[in-house]
Amino acid sequence: MSGRTHLGMPAFPEAATSATRDARLRRNLRHATGTIRAKRAEAVAELPDWAELRAAGAAIKDRTLRHLDHYLEQLEEAVTAAGGTVHWAADAAEANRIVTELVRATGETEVVKVKSMATQEIGLNAALEKAGIRAYETDLAELIVQLGDDLPSHILVPAIHRNREEIRDVFRGRMSRWGRPAPEGLTDDPAELAEAARLHLREKFLRAKVGVSGANFMVAETGTLVVVESEGNGRMCLTLPETLISVVGIEKVVPTWRDLEVFLQLLPRSSTAERMNPYTSMWTGTTDSETADGPRDFHLVLLDNGRTDALADTVGRQALRCIRCSACLNVCPVYERAGGHAYGSAYPGPIGAILTPQLRGTTTELDASLPYASSLCGACYEVCPVAIDIPQVLVYLRERVAEGGEVTVRGQRTTIRPARGHAAERAAMRAARWALDHPGALRAGQRLAARTRRLHPRRLPGPGRAWTASRDLPAVPAESFRDWWRRTRDDRAEGDRR
Ligand code: SF4
Repeated sequence: MSGRTHLGMPAFPEAATSATRDARLRRNLRHATGTIRAKRAEAVAELPDWAELRAAGAAIKDRTLRHLDHYLEQLEEAVTAAGGTVHWAADAAEANRIVTELVRATGETEVVKVKSMATQEIGLNAALEKAGIRAYETDLAELIVQLGDDLPSHILVPAIHRNREEIRDVFRGRMSRWGRPAPEGLTDDPAELAEAARLHLREKFLRAKVGVSGANFMVAETGTLVVVESEGNGRMCLTLPETLISVVGIEKVVPTWRDLEVFLQLLPRSSTAERMNPYTSMWTGTTDSETADGPRDFHLVLLDNGRTDALADTVGRQALRCIRCSACLNVCPVYERAGGHAYGSAYPGPIGAILTPQLRGTTTELDASLPYASSLCGACYEVCPVAIDIPQVLVYLRERVAEGGEVTVRGQRTTIRPARGHAAERAAMRAARWALDHPGALRAGQRLAARTRRLHPRRLPGPGRAWTASRDLPAVPAESFRDWWRRTRDDRAEGDRR
């Protein structure tokens, strides 16, 4: 991840409009998501008990979330007993301050990082940069993003919007600013690109004294953290540096190793379409031997940043089950066309559309637009390995945006006002309610609309203009359904009598 953040990004419709004009971006996304989608379907079909695994994953997450306070305390106790130190961060600012102070205390001015959504969410790289500390991303795709001064656009493949030629150009043009330059005559051959990244990163791994990671899971019963990845960079970051700082969302805890077993089956097949991850690294506390691998000093920063507020919401809380597999992104027709940047957050795609407005609220134009970034086709729910009913939460959040209502913000119940721009929609809904309550008026209105249908415009004027900017108004039929029903039913009844 580069030092860039999502601050100041435009609302989804605006960002998506410009993204969909980029033919190369659309081509890259179509190719990449199509490939992953097909492989995932094959990998999942291999398991006859996938549905049961999925139900088990959802049940474990729900049970854990119901007793989250208990499992977090158990985790803290176990991590502390194993020699680690646990820090609690209420929000992004607090988490960034904790990590910055921990790095400063080591006297180091650079850290190596394993790809981590939580540190993207809090903008850790930018915070470290401000404090004069350089964070080096070591995941290949994150490296591409960082070198290109770009933003990630996918949970699993952050540089999914880049093709091979673009990556070659980024390496050639920018690698030398961050360390070892790209080899002379670098081509866009994948093996050459991977080798260039390997050489560039290796010297960073060997000199780094501080590593920063996230974690896919935290096992409460032993205080063990788990990172799954495919490149081996995670293993290097977790074992070589003397100090390891892990920033992890509080919802990542699972009670036991038996629970972990379920997720280690669900995650790889859903994300990379693999039967198991190439690298599954687990560590518990610190190691005090000079010869053993692993950190001498280990800090776990447990991040809330809106999660307990989401937990207080009986419908929205299911988003906290997410194991960040990205399957929902790969099947989403909106994501495939708009790309990840349009979501203006570390969490793009369908999960971002329900998670970001819960973590950040719906008070900005961008966050209020996210629940609408979906056609509600339901493909995301079908593939989600922990059965998050994303369409249900999207509709629920749309209602909150349009109607306002009670939410929990920093632990306090608060009433939020309806978002601006929805007055016309609310007026239309009130008019529809009145018409449906008055069948005579409805029938008269339908007949009038049918008779004048040739005069109807294809675009709405005034506040309705935005709605018809990208779609035609449906044509009014010559006969309303009620009239058709009466006519055909009466005819049939007549025929029966004959
Ligand atoms: S919502 Fe479900 S499908 Fe999407 S990333 Fe999370 S776990 Fe995967």
